Amino acid sequence: MSSLDTYIENNRQRYIDELVELLKFPSISADSAYAGDIERCADYLVDHLQGIGLEARKMPTGGHPLVYAEWLGAPGRPTALIYGHYDVQPPDPLELWESPPFEPVIKEGKLYARGSSDNKGQVYAHIKGIEAHLKQNGKLPVNVKLLIEGEEEIASAHLDDFIEENKDLLKADVVIVSDSAMAGPGEPAITYGLRGLAYLELRVDGPNRDLHSGAYGGSVANPAEMLARMIAQCKDDRGRVQIPGFYDDVVEIDQEERELLGKVPFSEEADRESLDISMHRGESG
Ligand SMILES: [Zn+2]
Repeated sequence: MSSLDTYIENNRQRYIDELVELLKFPSISADSAYAGDIERCADYLVDHLQGIGLEARKMPTGGHPLVYAEWLGAPGRPTALIYGHYDVQPPDPLELWESPPFEPVIKEGKLYARGSSDNKGQVYAHIKGIEAHLKQNGKLPVNVKLLIEGEEEIASAHLDDFIEENKDLLKADVVIVSDSAMAGPGEPAITYGLRGLAYLELRVDGPNRDLHSGAYGGSVANPAEMLARMIAQCKDDRGRVQIPGFYDDVVEIDQEERELLGKVPFSEEADRESLDISMHRGESG
């Protein structure tokens, strides 16, 4: 074990206790009733980051503040900018929670709380990694900047402006976005590509009045049927998008990536189980 591992092992319980503290803040960005909790959560992070030896401050935006921190004690070495967010999704409907969303509990080795996996847990992993380096070695191998925003769950309303206004402050060689998942316990992942999202509204108009099926059936198209056909034609049986040009700008994955992806522990069955899909399928017969 390296001295870093030893430090982390020796401080394991404190690390967990501190994460629990962070998870107790109901930092819900979408509801103005929680603006005070957002501020308190940001203050807590600033204090914490200063406590482990970073320069940290709360920075105002047009909405909720973001937390910026840095350690630039490695001249000549690259600078990594780590992005994360401390705001969380609203926890409704509350009656579906087995334990209150802002009273973290550990069950079977898993920590349950709103924000634990999106994104306070990931942010904390970075912070605690930095802490281990600073406490154990007195320095980091690279320069580090942290940008932890409070508006990710409301479409990062003021992040663009903030970045535009703080280009020098945020200058970095690499950006690490920790707002992603890992493949499973003990399977840390670097996510460098995700599927995107495109949506559009489509309207199909039909005749201006109800038509007699005997007189018009088969000769005038039913808009609901046409819409269903159009949607069905978007993909083939294997899920490949059939829209011409759709893949033009998509970078093909290469052989090495294919092999790496093949090593990711993935089980269709486990996925289905966790999503409750097989059960519902069974019920409906
Ligand atoms: Zn997130």
